[in-house]
Amino acid sequence: MVKTILFLCGLAIVISLILAAPLLTRWRRKRIRDRAFPHQWQTTLDRKIPLYKSLPKPLQERLRGYIQVFLTEKTFTGCGGLTITNEMRVTIAAQACLLLLNQNERFYPKLNAILVYPGAFVVNTTQSMGGYVVEEKNVARRGESWDRGIVVLSWEDIQYDATHGRDGHNVVLHEFAHQLDQEGGRADGVPFLTPPVDRATWAQVFRREYDRLQRDVQRGLKTVLDAYGATDPAEFFAVATETFFEKAQLMQRHHSDLYQVLECYYRLDPASWGSKI
Ligand SMILES: [Zn+2]
Repeated sequence: MVKTILFLCGLAIVISLILAAPLLTRWRRKRIRDRAFPHQWQTTLDRKIPLYKSLPKPLQERLRGYIQVFLTEKTFTGCGGLTITNEMRVTIAAQACLLLLNQNERFYPKLNAILVYPGAFVVNTTQSMGGYVVEEKNVARRGESWDRGIVVLSWEDIQYDATHGRDGHNVVLHEFAHQLDQEGGRADGVPFLTPPVDRATWAQVFRREYDRLQRDVQRGLKTVLDAYGATDPAEFFAVATETFFEKAQLMQRHHSDLYQVLECYYRLDPASWGSKI
């Protein structure tokens, strides 16, 4: 009898802790968000991130809080001799958190570490050439997102992209869109969807727009979305995210359904943010 009571008490404590964990995390994050935002970090946002300046004031404030949480929870490591500075950390965090502004505090739950190289880095890839033939080659990359909770970035490209906020190319937005996609496992172009976004509408619009981009690229036509998006559905989602934030008005005009689905997913309307870039 005593054993049973002890077991039930233990079980009740474990269940309480499990139920309380999300509340404790929310409470801890709120305390971090409420801290004073360091002056040096603010200078980086003002001088290096034009996208930040284009945000409405309430979103700027939320972003500053999110940056503080992100920088508390994620680890940064310099590679290839690079020393990580606060400017690097804030520049990366600001753009990564832009995707989260209305995502109900989902701070990339699988992501642990961000590796940063001074410039493009070389990776060894293998490609099946049919039959038993496999070709191995070294490829230069600007960024990578692994489903094991790691993002790899080139600082040279981050800097260029951050200050060229209207060209539809942004390696941080791209790789962190992959992270959102990889929350459920391997990237397939379908991130974790919650109402009002429904899977059927997402699939229908993304399929149609992906096919359209592939057709336009094959015909050599000028496209709003970068041709790299025609590679596969996962790249299409990452490229569409870059376009959504950096060429919002163009996307809204020429790909209104795609814009609408992404507006619903990110719960943001960058086309209305004005142009301070
Ligand atoms: Zn990609």
